Amino acid sequence: MNALSIRNLRKTYNNGLEALKGIDLDVKAGDFFALLGPNGAGKSTTIGIVSSLVRKTSGTVEVFGHDLDKEREAAKRCLGLVPQEVNFNQFEKVLDIVVNQAGYYGIRRKEAMRRAEQCLRQLSLWDKRNSVSRHLSGGMKRRLMIARALVHSPKLLILDEPTAGVDIEIRRSMWEFLRKINQEGTTIILTTHYLEEAENLCRHIAIINHGHIVEHNAMSDLLRKL
Ligand code: ADP
Ligand code: ADP
Repeated sequence: MNALSIRNLRKTYNNGLEALKGIDLDVKAGDFFALLGPNGAGKSTTIGIVSSLVRKTSGTVEVFGHDLDKEREAAKRCLGLVPQEVNFNQFEKVLDIVVNQAGYYGIRRKEAMRRAEQCLRQLSLWDKRNSVSRHLSGGMKRRLMIARALVHSPKLLILDEPTAGVDIEIRRSMWEFLRKINQEGTTIILTTHYLEEAENLCRHIAIINHGHIVEHNAMSDLLRKL
């Protein structure tokens, strides 16, 4: 079973910029996968399309077998996204941010509370549940975005540059957490421009540059070539 299948995906933005020039990508269920590439390569565009935030120009995308054009809601339920920039309402309380996210998936209040508690506890944020989110540190905000992305128990977690700009200690603890949930069965895809991050975490890797996939390989094979 593939967690993600992308065929001949193209994206031309309204200004004429061709961000994706026909990419193919397969990620197996259970994998820990890195989409690696320099700034401007097309990483965010790719995951924006997969998460239904960006409209594709052409091509097909399936998330756990659900075609984005035909079964968008089912595809969305399989997927949790951790964006690069903080995008929650910073005046909301930590607990409310996570509980409200569960609401978007139609999870009832009582169950939403139970899940939010579980997610906040595993990211060591339960003590902060009544804090207004803008008072959190940068590392805590990142963890809150992960907690929010996990509240509906997605089978696929996608993180856009999860450790950009965070210090080494926070990076290490995030790596540890991601390894743990991957071992428990969640498929993980992350974008990064650090080879070191991909090397540390991921079993498979694709390299994207100028809107083309230039490598699609097992991490170990790639390292042998470098
Ligand atoms: P779409 O084709 O998906 O509708 P648009 O081309 O309309 O997307 O762009 C969405 C928004 O992003 C616009 O407001 C646009 O001005 C802005 N934008 C333009 N260039 C860039 C860029 N290089 N990086 C990020 N955002 C951009
Ligand atoms: P990456 O995530 O690898 O840094 P992006 O997917 O953000 O790359 O960007 C790919 C290309 O598309 C870049 O040239 C970027 O400037 C451009 N781009 C991104 N968003 C928009 C937008 N909304 N409108 C126009 N161009 C965009």
